[in-house]
Amino acid sequence: DISRTAERADMRVYLIGGIVRDLFLERPNDDIDIVVEGNGIDFAEHLRTDYGGSVKMHETFGTASWIHPSGLYIDVTSARLEYYERPASLPDVELSTLSEDLYRRDFTINSMALCLNPEVFGDLVDPFNGQADLRSKTIKVLHNLSFIDDPTRILRAVRFETRFDFLMDKQTESLALNSMARMRDLSAHRIVEEMKRLFKDEDPPGTIKRLFKLTFWQQFGVDDGSAEQSYIHAGQLKMFYEIHKPPAGQKARWFNYFAIPFFTSKKMYLMSQFSLTKRNNKFLQDIRNLSDMEGVERIREPGEFHRFLKHYEDEAIIFMIAKENMENEDIITSYLKRRIDMPIFLTGEDLIREGMKPGPHFRGILLDLEVAVLNGEINSRDEAVEWLH
Ligand code: ATP
Repeated sequence: DISRTAERADMRVYLIGGIVRDLFLERPNDDIDIVVEGNGIDFAEHLRTDYGGSVKMHETFGTASWIHPSGLYIDVTSARLEYYERPASLPDVELSTLSEDLYRRDFTINSMALCLNPEVFGDLVDPFNGQADLRSKTIKVLHNLSFIDDPTRILRAVRFETRFDFLMDKQTESLALNSMARMRDLSAHRIVEEMKRLFKDEDPPGTIKRLFKLTFWQQFGVDDGSAEQSYIHAGQLKMFYEIHKPPAGQKARWFNYFAIPFFTSKKMYLMSQFSLTKRNNKFLQDIRNLSDMEGVERIREPGEFHRFLKHYEDEAIIFMIAKENMENEDIITSYLKRRIDMPIFLTGEDLIREGMKPGPHFRGILLDLEVAVLNGEINSRDEAVEWLH
């Protein structure tokens, strides 16, 4: 479709960036980016005229998205140059050539374009020899100032390393090490966004280890010496997630991995530099309280855990068991499973109906009831009422 419209509109049109890389790697990718030598917004309009769907414009950037009738998003950019002179503001936009567009990208494997015009369909534009780096599984920057221009690229490099099982070449790795201190200049928000993406990928323990090697954690006050322990903890945590799949908090999982190096160095207070959400803070608070808790390791019945752990979220509890490697961990996990669908046989209202005088002691009675339910001693409402008397 795009090819025919390109011919009719008499514009050069290219598939560009991550999608080209993933085509060569034969990996799925729904992020379709195309670049037009000419006006991208006009081209998106042409596509709509030819095939329907709708167009969303982002005029400041001279870009548009064409939403295909099937719902697929296709981002259309004008070949352009972004300047870094005013890093805090929006980039100055200037129409330019395709090779300039490729030059401002991050890595050679992401800086290839495939021409879509019918007469040259499939022609590869690869000024940095990304093909060869794909073959040798190498992440390579385009120039020596790349990480200085944008330190988040270091985190992107690590993401591609783990995802594709690639490695940075020597030069890129040493540039990453030398620019790592720049990481501290980034806003907390940008770091957090990259962490979310990093820890979504397959190998959080490997990612944590790699980031120690590149001195990422150390920039934020984590001790060099906690690398090994962090790696082990992350491995245990990953295993727990795979086995138990706790339903709550899937979204916060990246954060739990992110917290490990700080936790291992006993410096969780340093995480306040990452302007955290309420939920993140609650997790940290839970972890702190759980670390101070005594006596949990002696518990042998699932219900008894409830007295200690009722108010803690699954995620925090799993984080702690993963770290402790406790011998009663099977009982805790069976407690977690049971409490997810624990039936409520009696409420405060029921107690009143049974002739009891309301008061703060209700709380203790209901807790005892929950403990008995979790231990499998009470299995119905009738049994609960009987237990009450
Ligand atoms: P993913 O599959 O994780 O989305 P991607 O490579 O498609 O990976 P995007 O973040 O969607 O990643 O970026 C699309 C393209 O934009 C990249 O392939 C790269 O060429 C370019 N790009 C993205 N971020 C940067 C950056 N910080 N610096 C330079 N180029 C970038």
